[in-house]
Amino acid sequence: MYQFIKDLENQFKIDNKLSKKIKDSFEKVQPYWQKINDITYMNQMKILKAFQKNNASDFHLNGSTGYGYGDMGREVLEYIWADIFQAEKALVRPQIVSGTHAISLCLFGVLRPHDEFISISGIPYDTLQKVIGSGEPGTLSELNIIHKSIDLKENGDFNFELIEKAINDKTKMVCIQRSRGYSWRPSLAIEQIAEVIKFVKKINPNIVCFVDNCYGEFVEIMEPTQIGADLVAGSLIKNPGGGITPRGGYIVGRKELVYAASCRLTAPGIAGEVGSALDFNRLAYQGLFLAPLITEQALKGAIFAAQLLSDLGYSVSPQPYELRTDIIQAIKLGSPQKMRLFCQGIQKASPLDAHVTPQESLLPGYKDPVIMAGGTFIQGSSIELSADGPLREPYIVYLQGGLSVAHVIIGLVSALKKMDLIYDE
Ligand SMILES: *Cc1c(COP(=O)(O)O)cnc(C)c1O
Repeated sequence: MYQFIKDLENQFKIDNKLSKKIKDSFEKVQPYWQKINDITYMNQMKILKAFQKNNASDFHLNGSTGYGYGDMGREVLEYIWADIFQAEKALVRPQIVSGTHAISLCLFGVLRPHDEFISISGIPYDTLQKVIGSGEPGTLSELNIIHKSIDLKENGDFNFELIEKAINDKTKMVCIQRSRGYSWRPSLAIEQIAEVIKFVKKINPNIVCFVDNCYGEFVEIMEPTQIGADLVAGSLIKNPGGGITPRGGYIVGRKELVYAASCRLTAPGIAGEVGSALDFNRLAYQGLFLAPLITEQALKGAIFAAQLLSDLGYSVSPQPYELRTDIIQAIKLGSPQKMRLFCQGIQKASPLDAHVTPQESLLPGYKDPVIMAGGTFIQGSSIELSADGPLREPYIVYLQGGLSVAHVIIGLVSALKKMDLIYDE
């Protein structure tokens, strides 16, 4: 390992002080890395068993064309997902274009005019605010669907009191965002989610408990559907695609709810019976199989980043020693220039497009300009090493992904080298 640090020293011409910090961080993170191995092994076992139980075969990897009627590969893939998530039904499709789309399908599938739904983990992810609505055609608010949100408490726990007060006869759904998204708040542990679902169901068992599971898959040994969530959605170019699945999203949960979402994806009556896979099946099977390992690599990289950056004096969240429930590492850099340089350094260490300089820009669905680094094999994939964030106070960069922990370390050193430019100001 120390030969690798020497190599970093030479390649990046870093000084002794930084090289010493890198070495110290290595040593400090070993026990935290150790804990993650166990989770990887258990999730790998769970996934392997689901493949075997469903007699996954070579011919399932071939995709259908046209309508895609009777696509066995698609059907078996969805049985496997349902088993892994211990859900009644799964919809796993290349036709779901992103995580936002998957979540949106759940909301439009379940909610009807004058229904209320409550985000109980604070204001939801940037792109979902547009779905809820203002201005664009076809939003939830245009359909007179009412949204409320309740912030988490200062300590990161659910605000049970306010949740109880907010629930009324019209409440159809509560939404929980497992990951921090672009915010400083901690991600939510499965145990916390289990507790709040129980609480909501006690008030009214008919309320649909929905979880935005983006970035959370295979970080713990349980998934939200295993602890009472009715409906769960996420993206295949994050954890569960294993860096291999080139596009798509998933929805798992109770049969009638997943069915309602699939009627939204295609058309009522057609639902999930159509949708050809083309080249999707093999990549979706293989990506899912690799997902625990790749998630582990990303997590180890995030822990290392937390250790190193906090040793260098930056505020980080989560701390290197804390329980993780998503793969995101937030680092408070404190200035827009540092954010740019950090992202430039990550970009410069990418396998693709290392020669381009990331610049902030306005993206569809986001309010503030966003800067994104990631020379990824799959466009926008954030299970691959990437760093991004909206350029707004207090200038937090969100680091996530990494197909190998070595790459994350190289990327970090590259980022620190870039930031060195203004280090001593
Ligand atoms: C990434 C993400 C989304 C949206 O996913 P896209 O695939 O980028 O549309 C939603 N919620 C959370 C918490 C996310 O991290």
